[in-house]
This record gives sequence, structure tokens and C-alpha cells, in this order.
Amino acid sequence: MKQSSPGKTTSQEAREAFQKQLRPFASREPIQLLCGRCNKAVPGDMEWICGYCRHPNLRTRTYSFLNRCQSCGKEPKSLVCPHCEAMVFLTDEKDGMQPARKFVALEEPPPTVDPREQKRKAHEDEVEELNRQIQLAEKNALLARAKAAVDIKPEKSEKEKSVDQLVNRIRSVLKLELAAPKARAMLVDEFKDNPEIAGRIDEVIKMIIEEQDFRSDTDRRV
Ligand SMILES: [Zn+2]
Ligand SMILES: [Zn+2]
Repeated sequence: MKQSSPGKTTSQEAREAFQKQLRPFASREPIQLLCGRCNKAVPGDMEWICGYCRHPNLRTRTYSFLNRCQSCGKEPKSLVCPHCEAMVFLTDEKDGMQPARKFVALEEPPPTVDPREQKRKAHEDEVEELNRQIQLAEKNALLARAKAAVDIKPEKSEKEKSVDQLVNRIRSVLKLELAAPKARAMLVDEFKDNPEIAGRIDEVIKMIIEEQDFRSDTDRRV
């Protein structure tokens, strides 16, 4: 194998050396070629872009620019030196039309801002802010209502107190009077065999109602 100091060869030699290494059981040594202009080494496993199909070749242990493109299968006839940009011919054809170039992973471009997307986002933000304000207002209203419920009611006037007491008293009596007919019917039925007791039912009911009336009266005085 014609190979100068560690794997540094001319382009033709580098290509031949690389092809040989592709054979089964061939030993693999790093192969690099020297640029004719800057004399710097270009490693054979450099990641490269195919000049024919623009495929970025990254599996360069096999698909080196000294071999062929993994995608279109074409063998590069020239290479742009990654150091000095000189055209390095890889074959005798001296064809520099579609040279291989070093692949440089581009950094993520900054996200482009679509004005419509921006507008939509602004609108969303606005809606979100409004919702937030509505929620806040609702919470404030709830709080105000809760506070109002807790707030000490203004002291009622004597007249208002009297009206309340009278209403309560009348309500108690009326409730009894409303219940009286049903109670009377039940008792009349229950004591139908005891005319003496049954005869007192109306009297007792009247007494109870009057007593309630009296009680309300006493409550009022306390
Ligand atoms: Zn290709
Ligand atoms: Zn160079």
C-alpha cells in the first residue's frame, strides 16, 4: 500500500487507500488528504455535503467523500478545502462542477415571528387578562356579599321591635288555630266512646290557644 506518513496522501492516493479499506477484513487507519494550496490535512471521515444531491453525509466511515454519497451513490470528483476554500480535485477529470463540501451543522435559526401568529398570541393574552379580571371581580363580589352578611345589622328601632314581636305572637296563635280543626277531628274520633271527655275538646283547645296568646304576651314583656 502506497501511503506516506500517517495516512497523509494526495487526493488520488487517499481515494485509493480508502477504497482498499472498504474491503472485508481490511485494516482501518485514519486517512487524510493534503490540500494542494494550503497543505493542510482534510480527514477522510470529515462530514460532508454531496455536491450532486446536497445530502449531508454523516456516516463517513463508509460514505466518505473519498468514497461515495450515501444518498445518490455518486463519487465526488472534487472537494472544496475546508481550510482555504481551494478546489481539490479527487480524480484525473479535474471536474469542479459539483464539489463536496464540509458539512457544518447549522445552529437552530431563531424562531421566525409570524405577524398573524403574534397577533393571535396578543389576542389570547388579552382574553386571558380579561378572564382574570372577571374572576377577580366575581371573587370581590362574593367577598363583599360575605362581608355584608357578617356586618352587624343596624339596631332596630323600638317600633320595629314591637312590630316583630306582635307578628311573632300572631303567627304562633294563628298556627295553633290552623292546626286546631285537624287536632279536634282526631280527638273527637279518639274519644268517641267517652262523651264526657269529647265534650271538653273544644274547651281545651280554646284554653291552649289562649295560653299561647298569653305566653307570647309574657315573652314580649321579658
Ligand atoms: Zn449525493
Ligand atoms: Zn486548502
